[in-house]
Parts: sequence; structure tokens; C-alpha cells
Amino acid sequence: PRDQAPDRHVTVRVAPLGSRLVLALVEDRTRERRVEAVRRDFVANVSHELKTPVGAIRLLADAVWEAAEDPEAVRRFSERMVLEGERLTVLVQQVIELSRLQGDERLDSPLPMSVDDVVGLSVDTSAIDAAAKGISVVTGGERGLKVLGNEEQVTMAVANLVANAVRYSDPDSTVLVTTRAEDSYVAVSVVDQGIGIPSVEIDRIFERFYRVDPARHRSTGGTGLGLSIVKHVAATHGGDVSVWSVEGQGSTFTLTLPRAEARGPHGEARPAPA
Ligand code: ADP
Repeated sequence: PRDQAPDRHVTVRVAPLGSRLVLALVEDRTRERRVEAVRRDFVANVSHELKTPVGAIRLLADAVWEAAEDPEAVRRFSERMVLEGERLTVLVQQVIELSRLQGDERLDSPLPMSVDDVVGLSVDTSAIDAAAKGISVVTGGERGLKVLGNEEQVTMAVANLVANAVRYSDPDSTVLVTTRAEDSYVAVSVVDQGIGIPSVEIDRIFERFYRVDPARHRSTGGTGLGLSIVKHVAATHGGDVSVWSVEGQGSTFTLTLPRAEARGPHGEARPAPA
């Protein structure tokens, strides 16, 4: 038998044990309800975010049709349609990634990977956008480090940080991606000289769909999901992500991951963290 006290969000389960003994289990249902509310919120946000590019593509398709006689207008509308299509693709990819990551509490079988490779691939992903703004992305720090995890997820996380650094930087500035070992961890920092983040917003930027300046995002092209993906990757890897920022001067995001072949204080090899 199951008896619910809705006003206190508590479930009492009463299970008979033997002939007379009764075991009562009290479970706090508040957390369950919160998780459900967050899930509903996410679905509502996703639907809202999908409607914008889908609606734009529909309108642009009509516009192309109407402008059939004007090749210049057709070209302009088609270009915008491609951009909206790309926005839609990235959004759908990120929503899928996020729901996949949310199902994982902890990574099943982490493997060692080269941090240099991860950084190289992540920088390549933003190369076109960086070049278009005249931004140089440089790498530095310790070479030859290895971390434990899922290479695809770690690359996606670092690539998101690099993409943000490029997206929120002024033209002709520099983005630095630097790596260093810290005992049993490796820290990858992405340093930009961009717009920075107001201190009152810092705690919120890792929330799904949160943007410091929603009006701006249509021109910058982000989805608002990048940092929540980074946070989830850090969590499933037993790592961490942190940010340091000064508004108008720039931001530094640091992703910390468990090091494969951890070293002791005197450089001796130690088993990697479980
Ligand atoms: P988006 O796709 O909008 O970039 P993110 O989840 O990656 O979404 O980031 C959330 C918000 O945090 C961004 O909209 C932006 O306001 C802020 N932000 C993220 N990275 C940076 C950065 N390097 N510099 C300044 N602001 C940033």
C-alpha cells in the first residue's frame, strides 16, 4: 500500500514483514518534483528555441519563391536560409548531446587521450570563425599531457570554450589555450580578451539556455547550451569547470580533468585516479 501526503511531498510506503512487523519508508519527493519541473522547463525552452529558426526558414522559403525574378534577392534570402539551417543543426546536435550526457552519472570506461590532440582539434573547429574576425588562437603550456575520459566529449567541451572565446572577443584580439598539470589533474584554460562577463551573471552562465545578453545572441549565433554541455562533461569525468572574468577585459575558463599517469610531488608515476 502506498499513501501520499501531497502537501508535504512525502511518500510513505508500508511493507508488512512477517506476520506483524511493519517497515515504513519515508521518501522525500521534493527532489523528484524539482527534477520533473526542470525537465518540463527544458522541453519548453527547446520548443521555443526550435521555433525561431524553423519559422525563419519557412518565411525565407516564401521570400525566395516571391523573389524568383530577382537573382540578387534570391541569393540573399538563400544565404540567410543556409545560416538558419546551420543554427538549427547546431541546436539539435547540442540538445541531443545534452540529453545523452544527462543520462550518464559517471563515465563507464574512461580511456587515456592526448591533451595536445584534443586542443588541436578544438582550435581547428573554430579556425574559420577566428580567421573571419582576424582573431589569432594560440596554444601554449605543457605538452605531452594525457587525461582520462571520453575523447569525443572532452573535445566537444574544449571546442565549446574556444568557440565562445572567439564569439565573445573583439576582432583582431588573441585567444590563448594553455594546458598545465596539477598533480593528478590536468587544467586546460581558454583565455580571451573579449567582452567579459558581469560578476552578477557569472553563476548563471552554466544554466541551460542562459545568455548574458539575449538580444545579442542572434548576431553571435550561440545556442545558450554550450556551457551546460561543458559542465556536464566535467561532472561525468570527475573534473570541474571554473571561470574568472573581468567585464570589458576578458574571461578565462578552466576545465580540469583527471590525469592519466598521475605523477607524485617528485615526478614519480602514480596510478591514475579511479
Ligand atoms: P552561447 O551559445 O550563447 O554562447 P553558452 O552556454 O556557451 O551559450 O554561454 C552562455 C552565455 O555565457 C553566453 O550567451 C555569453 O553571454 C556568456 N559567455 C560564455 N562564454 C563567454 C566568454 N568567453 N566571454 C564572454 N561571455 C561569455
